[in-house]
Amino acid sequence: PHTPTRSTRDYQQLDAAHHIHAFVDQKALNAEGPRVMVRGEGLHLWDNDGKRYLDGMSGLWCTNLGYGRKDLAAAASRQLEQLPYYNMFFHTTHPAVVELSEQLFSLLPSHYSHAVYTNSGSEANEVLIRTVRRYWQILGKPQKKVMIGRWNGYHGSTLASTALGGMKFMHEMGGLIPDIAHIDEPYWFAAGGELSPAEFGRRCALQLEEKILELGAENVAAFIAEPFQGAGGMIFPPQSYWPEIQRICRQYDVLLCADEVIGGFGRTGEWFAHQHFGFQPDTLSIAKGLTSGYIPMGGLVLSKRIAEVLVEQGGVYAHGLTYSGHPVAAAVAIANIKALRDEGVVERVKVDTGPYLQQCLREVFAGHPLIGEIQGSGLVAALQFSEDPASRKRFANETDLTWRCRSIGFDNGLIIRATGGRMIMAPALVATRTDLDELVSKTKLAVDQTA
Ligand code: PLP
Repeated sequence: PHTPTRSTRDYQQLDAAHHIHAFVDQKALNAEGPRVMVRGEGLHLWDNDGKRYLDGMSGLWCTNLGYGRKDLAAAASRQLEQLPYYNMFFHTTHPAVVELSEQLFSLLPSHYSHAVYTNSGSEANEVLIRTVRRYWQILGKPQKKVMIGRWNGYHGSTLASTALGGMKFMHEMGGLIPDIAHIDEPYWFAAGGELSPAEFGRRCALQLEEKILELGAENVAAFIAEPFQGAGGMIFPPQSYWPEIQRICRQYDVLLCADEVIGGFGRTGEWFAHQHFGFQPDTLSIAKGLTSGYIPMGGLVLSKRIAEVLVEQGGVYAHGLTYSGHPVAAAVAIANIKALRDEGVVERVKVDTGPYLQQCLREVFAGHPLIGEIQGSGLVAALQFSEDPASRKRFANETDLTWRCRSIGFDNGLIIRATGGRMIMAPALVATRTDLDELVSKTKLAVDQTA
């Protein structure tokens, strides 16, 4: 139990006085007052007034093991006492980061061999851009430096990761970096038209080929995308999409980079989301589920093809962050990976709780007058609001509707996310069937009350 030390109003006033929040209209937030979260256990959170919430979003898609894990807290505490900090700058290393790599690469297919550690997903993608460009430089192709991303993709909030992403409202803040291009997202429901999902997926992928030919393959370094789009609306591409993207990347010698910041560490029921879609990226950007969000950590995983060039021919790798491979974060990541594996968490998502959630959502929402599409796999899912599901007609005010749905949920003790016309859920991977029943029934209530 939490004993409040200040009133909620006090916290809100102090917060409003000093804190700029992420992705909100600060003035509107100050008028409303943010909810003050004070405690978590499993899938549930409590606010400062004792109200209980089912967290259907794992925080920000990151608390894969749920809240309140004593093993993760103990791992951090042990490491803090033994060696709270050291770095890998000048010919040193430490056991926590070495053993983290051992654990990480035991999960990954054998064509991945090295990682660069960071503190976040944004940084992982910053490192990606520099590393990919360095790779082509070493191979004598310094002009091969354009990165292609997707409109509405999300790769972070720092300068280069914002440019790489395709969120136009973020681009409007300005200052982007050059040598970045975008293609459309594979969002079949929103595209409308007569194409089947399979044909639409192929057409979207062919845009990559057109863009490479327009820019010249000799200038294109890499294509980056989330295996399924997260912040852009939890959009699963048609099955035809990824095989075609992979073919194009191989044909034009363009590196294929998967942003696994959301999809990694079990979300779809596979360890990594690219495994769900059956393609083989050259790099993986990771963060969030690496530590179940208990402490900041991210990384860039490299295939042997890239690592060998960097290591054998590259000389000095001119990059480093003070907190790369931080011992405390590494110790938490090790405990997290062990728990996900030894407790069979990812396996359970694949064979039990994942199929259960997907089936419940389809039973409850198939044919619902407001819902036009249900997508997802494992413990991630989206519900698409639609004015006329049969013709895939979207509501003109879909963002108002989904935000209303979200706030009805909040009032009823449910946290799910509203993005464009879609409601998104991504509960912790330790969710039981009882937790998932609560998630689905509270979501149904919120959707029904939205109309
Ligand atoms: N990449 C993806 C796919 C993400 O969803 C996010 C964050 O939501 C990021 C990168 C950025 O990660 P971070 O917020 O840790 O910088």
